[in-house]
Amino acid sequence: MQNNCIYLDNNATTKVDPEVIEVMLPYLTDYYGNPSSMHTFGGQVGKAVRTAREQLAAILGADESEIVYTSCGTEGDNAAIRAALLAQPEKRHIVTTQVEHPAVLNVCKQLETQGYTVTYLSVNNQGQLDLDELEASLTGNTALVTIMYANNETGTVFPIEQIGLRVKESGAIFHVDAVQAVGKIPLNMKTSTVDMLTLSGHKLHGPKGIGALYIRRGVRFRPFMIGGHQERGRRAGTENVPAIIALGKAAELELLHLEEATARERKLRDRLEQTLLAKIPDCVVNGDVTQRLPNTTNIGFKYIEGEAILLLLNKYGICASSGSACTSGSLEPSHVLRAMGLPYTTLHGSIRFSLCRYTTEAEIDQVIEVMPSIVERLRALSPFKNDDAGWLQGQEQALAHR
Ligand SMILES: *Cc1c(COP(=O)(O)O)cnc(C)c1O
Repeated sequence: MQNNCIYLDNNATTKVDPEVIEVMLPYLTDYYGNPSSMHTFGGQVGKAVRTAREQLAAILGADESEIVYTSCGTEGDNAAIRAALLAQPEKRHIVTTQVEHPAVLNVCKQLETQGYTVTYLSVNNQGQLDLDELEASLTGNTALVTIMYANNETGTVFPIEQIGLRVKESGAIFHVDAVQAVGKIPLNMKTSTVDMLTLSGHKLHGPKGIGALYIRRGVRFRPFMIGGHQERGRRAGTENVPAIIALGKAAELELLHLEEATARERKLRDRLEQTLLAKIPDCVVNGDVTQRLPNTTNIGFKYIEGEAILLLLNKYGICASSGSACTSGSLEPSHVLRAMGLPYTTLHGSIRFSLCRYTTEAEIDQVIEVMPSIVERLRALSPFKNDDAGWLQGQEQALAHR
């Protein structure tokens, strides 16, 4: 097992903060009581869960009663979408975007086979939405608008409150997948137009297997998981206590570090990006560089394959990503970059570097050191360097032989 890599794949998952592990461990060993039990042994665990819920609510500017724990971000997205539809059975239309995470997109695709109509809003070549297109898509039949806060692949941030104002006018429920935003962008549900919001523990230095759904007080919610009375009847099943305690601490630390960590990450990210662009010919940044997460850069290197870049980076112990973790393995280019209408020459050679508060200057220097020669080596092997038409033809031939 290897664990000393240069980890620049934090949008896929993050390292659990050692302080988080420390507070979580006693709930895996000594304090194993059930928080719903009547005895003191369980009751003290219940108390710790309440504290953790307050810590998590604080990062959202929410009330503790508005938090429902889930097993992951995917569950939060699924539960929100299903609940919004169950609460308004007469409405049969959903609005989302072409660049959502599969946890939203694939639910919407399934709903299309069950009598729902879905509008998939397009994005421009910067990955941004057209708010007029959004407004035109909303009707009295629209039950739900589900739009991500920030894109996991490009880091592009959507104008969520501007979108929310339009959604509110239409009377639809507004769900936001904020898995990539929590801990990176300050949030305050008290002054927000968002009705439901999804987050995930393992994207913010908490453990895997825990997430949460924020449900605004007063928003009708029909549970997805039925059983006991946990989570005020909104999500049955004995609480994942160690992970809930961990998520509380992780949220507390994210909030504590938010300002200084994001400023630092932005500086490192910008240096990485600007140096690579200066040193390497024929590369471009994908996505909106002004409205963007501070930790993410997605760079397209023309005429080469992202997977080949990743393999060579991996030899240097550098972890990055091409497309999303969920779709890599298939050679299909990313649905996000395709929706942006990127030319084929960059579509296949795009790499995402995503930083975190543990990323060091020395690590960024290392990437800056090796990337130019990696790209040069691969381009030397590519028969179509500097030749858009030839490269494209080569890609088509390769596809035809698959
Ligand atoms: C990772 C991610 C998810 C899924 O979260 P899991 O906890 O892995 O299920 C959903 N949406 C976005 C934007 C993500 O980045």
